[in-house]
Parts: sequence; C-alpha cells; structure tokens
Amino acid sequence: MATVDPHSFTESTHPATAHIALTLYFDFPSSTIHAAALFTLQTPHSGPFFLDTRSLTIHSALHPDTATAIPFSLSTATSDPIKGTLLTLTLSNHSSFLLTFSTSPSSSALQWLLPPQTFNKTHPFVYTQCQAIHARSIFPSHDTPARRIRYSAILNIPSDLSAVMAASHVTRRPPRDDDAPALASLNLNWCSQDRVVEEFVMDQPVPPYLFAFAVGQLGNREVGPRTRVYSEEGSALLDSAAKEFEGTEEMIREGEKLFGEYDWERFDLLVLPPSFPYGGMENPKMVFLTPTVIKGDGSGAQVVAHELAHSWTGNLITNKTNEHFWLNEGFTTYAERRIVEAVQGEKRATLNVGIGWRGLNEDIERFKDNLEFTKLKNNQQGIDPDDVYSQVPYEKGFQFLLRIERQVGRSAFDEFLKKYIAKFKFQSIDTDTFLYFLKENIPGIENQIDLVLWTEGTGIPPDAYEPESGVYTSIVSLANEAANGRMPREEEVADWHGQEWELYLDNLPKSIESSQIVSLDSRHKLAESKDYEVKVSFLQRAILCGCKDYYEEVEKTLKTVGRMKYLRPLYTALVKGNEEDKVFAKRVFSESRECYHPIAQSVVESIFSKHM
Ligand SMILES: [Zn+2]
Repeated sequence: MATVDPHSFTESTHPATAHIALTLYFDFPSSTIHAAALFTLQTPHSGPFFLDTRSLTIHSALHPDTATAIPFSLSTATSDPIKGTLLTLTLSNHSSFLLTFSTSPSSSALQWLLPPQTFNKTHPFVYTQCQAIHARSIFPSHDTPARRIRYSAILNIPSDLSAVMAASHVTRRPPRDDDAPALASLNLNWCSQDRVVEEFVMDQPVPPYLFAFAVGQLGNREVGPRTRVYSEEGSALLDSAAKEFEGTEEMIREGEKLFGEYDWERFDLLVLPPSFPYGGMENPKMVFLTPTVIKGDGSGAQVVAHELAHSWTGNLITNKTNEHFWLNEGFTTYAERRIVEAVQGEKRATLNVGIGWRGLNEDIERFKDNLEFTKLKNNQQGIDPDDVYSQVPYEKGFQFLLRIERQVGRSAFDEFLKKYIAKFKFQSIDTDTFLYFLKENIPGIENQIDLVLWTEGTGIPPDAYEPESGVYTSIVSLANEAANGRMPREEEVADWHGQEWELYLDNLPKSIESSQIVSLDSRHKLAESKDYEVKVSFLQRAILCGCKDYYEEVEKTLKTVGRMKYLRPLYTALVKGNEEDKVFAKRVFSESRECYHPIAQSVVESIFSKHM
C-alpha cells in the first residue's frame, strides 16, 4: 500500500475516477451546499476504496442502479490537520457509486459573502479556491494533481443569481423534479419558483484543484473573440476590467506562438470581490482574478499573462504533487515574461525579472531556518502547502529555465518548450521526468549546467541571473543611496509607473529612517497609491521603521483586501514589531477575519502562531 501524494489519502493501487457527475444545491442562508456525486471509476474495484474529504457530512453511499447501500466510514476521530478526513467505501466489484453529502459553512475552499461584503451590497456571493488541497472540502475526491478527472455539474441556485464555472456552460433552465432524485430525502426546495438550474461540463481531464465556480449577481462584457470579463453586474468594476483586459486576445496569440494551440476553447476572466486570496487563479476556461489587478494602466495584464500561461504549464502539464510545484509555477513565470516582453516590450519584462529577483532573495531569507523550502524539488511530508507557499517555485524555477535558455539559445529553447508541451499534455509529471526529457532532447546539458544543484540544492545557484539592464540597475542603486540620506529627485521619478516604484521600495536599505519615509510619501503620495503593489510595499516599509503616521492606512488596507500577497508582508512586519504593533495586528485581524477567505485566515493565523 502506498499513497501517491503526501497531501492525499489516495492509494496508488486504487482505480482512478474517470468521471464525476455533481448535483449541487446552494443554500445561502446556511452557507451550505447539499450535493450528490455519481462516480464512475476507470476499472471496477473490490475492497476498501479511499477518498479525501474535509469537513463534509456524508449522508449515504449507494449503488447507482440498485440503490443498495454501500458500507462506508468517515474516520473523523483520526482526521489529519493537513489532509483532512479519510472516507473509506467498501466496494464489491463496483465501477460506479453515488454519494450524497453536505459541505460545512467552514469549508476551506469556499467563501460565502453576505451582501455587505460584495461590491453591489445587494446580493450574496460564493466562490471557490481549491488549490492547493481544498477541493476535498466541496466533494469527496482523489484530491491530488496526480489524478485527473472529467466532470459535469448541475447547480441549483437562487434565480436572481447566476453561476460561472471553470467548465463549459451548457444551459440555464428551470429546475426539474427528476434532476436530483438522490437528494429527495433532504427535503430541499429544488423546484421552488425562486430557484434556477445552471448546467456545466468539463470534458477535458483536469486535476481537482482546478475545480471552480462562483455564484452571485454576475454581469459580463465581451473583450475578445474567446474572452468575456465577468464581475458583479452593474458595478463600475466591470467597465474598468473590460478596459484593463482589452489586450487579452493579443496575449493568447503570443502564448500560442510560444507553446502551440490554445486547447481550452474559452479564456474568460472573472473579477472577484476583494477578499479573493490570490492575484489570480488559473481555473481553466474561467480565470479568477483579484480586483487589485485593475490599476487603470494596463499593468494588470501581467497577472492575466501569468494565468494564461498556465493554460499550458499547470493545466495541460501538471505537477504530480505539490513537491514539484515549480513545474507549474516556474514554467508559467517564464512564459508570462515572454508574453509580457512580446506585448509590452523588453523594459517591462526586465522590471518584472528584477522584482522577481528581489522577491526570491527575500523568500530564501524567510526560509533560512528551513532550507528544504528553498529547493525546487522538496519534501512536503507532514507540511501544509499553504504554509510554505513562496516565490521560490516561481522565481527559482524561472531562473532555472532562463539558465537553460541562456545556455542553448532562445530558438532552441523555444523548440524544446513546444516539444515538452506536446509530449506531456494532459499528464501529471515530476521533476525527474522533466530532467530525463531535458537530457534526452538537449544532449550534454548536464555537463553544462549543474541540474542536480538547481533542482535539489538549497538557496540560489551561483549561475543565476540578476538583471543587468540600465533601468533595473539605476533604480536599485538609487534605492541603495537612501542609506546616505539621498532621496530621488523629481526628474528621476517623473516617468515611473507602479513597477519602478515597487522595485525602488523593495530595494530600500533596512536602515532607512522614519523621516525619509514621510518625506517620500509627502512628495509622491505612495500610501494612497491605487496600485496595491506600491501601496503595500510602502506601508510595509513604514511599519518596519516604526512610522506610526501610516497605521490608519495599514488598518484600512487590511480591512479592504484579502489578497495574501498583501496580508502576509503587512501582518509579518507588524508581528515582528513591538508589543503595541502585535496588539494592533491582533485587533485588526479579529475585526477583519470574516472578510478573508478561509485559506487567508489560516495563513494569517500561522504567521501569528510563528511569531507570537
Ligand atoms: Zn501561477
């Protein structure tokens, strides 16, 4: 007996799930989904059969044709704090079974928003975030990227709302009596006048972490031949999002040049309420985005370029387990920068490399007592992937691929990338598989680059690349000069955008004084910047040098957005401060906790428990 993934109970000898037909009834007042799932296995199975769950109540397990009960047990007494609760079915040559179950209001994948927590403040909203290991809190599954599934879904929702999924939309129609016989015993108002059904299918096999939906009062705008932008109906956001992302089709074409044809038909974008914990999530056909990427200057396109690149690296070729996460994120960061370079020019791409370089160095420092997580391929036995989420798989992975590109030349590397995608699409692979393919296709590469050091070594290899371009080095040296009290002159920053400021702020020396922070802000209004990268970078600096003038703005920010990229540095800076800062952090968190997605809540809690 062996499990396939340290983050899943999935047993290697058990058959994979070929298809799941889901029927979901959304009960907003109780923040609960009542559901049925018809599983079809790839081969019949007898004996114990393991599935991952977290905070689910299982009502029944039945043979779908005969409705005879299938014995099952939910080992809640031995629940694992990371993996959740093992569901064991006892099968007798079954190749399909039907489960009925309900989610819990504390489901780690779901955020249920009350109307006041949305833009329009008139309707409730619910959305998913299943990466890394949260799909199991919506439906029982082999919740590992090593196992891909196809699915269909029938969502029964209030009729004044609509639903989107990371799947193809089939129809919106009135509910029917025969939609959900399995749920009859739960006495739901399935066919009530004020309910509607939305149907979806996902015919391409995807890892469970790419399962996604959102339900709310949604509207949309066309922005390209295969792209619509969705967000809350009537909000001003919809128009600004449509404007921000008008260049999406051009990016898709760049992605296709790099990697080959776009395989997912639609590339729609959903802009979520500000509590969304990530910048973006690459849910296939329907990317989820934080509203903080809409800055009004088109720079939000970089996040879209990143999520788009995942259509190939991550969604087509998937890391087998989270221990090889760099295969998803390193490739995607590399591709994102190639797309940005093609669409917005080399200067923007170089600034991104520079910002990434800084972030990588910071995270290597963050893990100085836990060097395992500075490796590309690492051991996550007993580790919650959300706790060790960092820039390392993104930026060190990017650096590794850039190192190969610099060795073999761009055109040879581009050819290699196309071959790699074609070879492994719709598969889940590990680092060794990649290295084997690399050595096979670029013979002798292991004599030119220390592949073992890059993939298994800690820290940053000596042959990594810090950008050398004029714009990058001039901003970094300007930031270093702040140590001598020299602040940038007006003409030096006149044409700076958000990225230049971000790079400058991130590179300011630790010794900078509070008075310098205040003077910087009084001239350039950084604390109130609409660009959250700039604002948060500035506020983090202000906290680190104990500049109390900005704590009101810090509080406002922490209560407005739930993106972990912002929560993490601000809370970390506060809890590393004095007693007063810690009390402040605790109070702000207790007052804003409900506005954060459950994943963000537990990340902030883990920052607290580590430092307090
Ligand atoms: Zn990514």
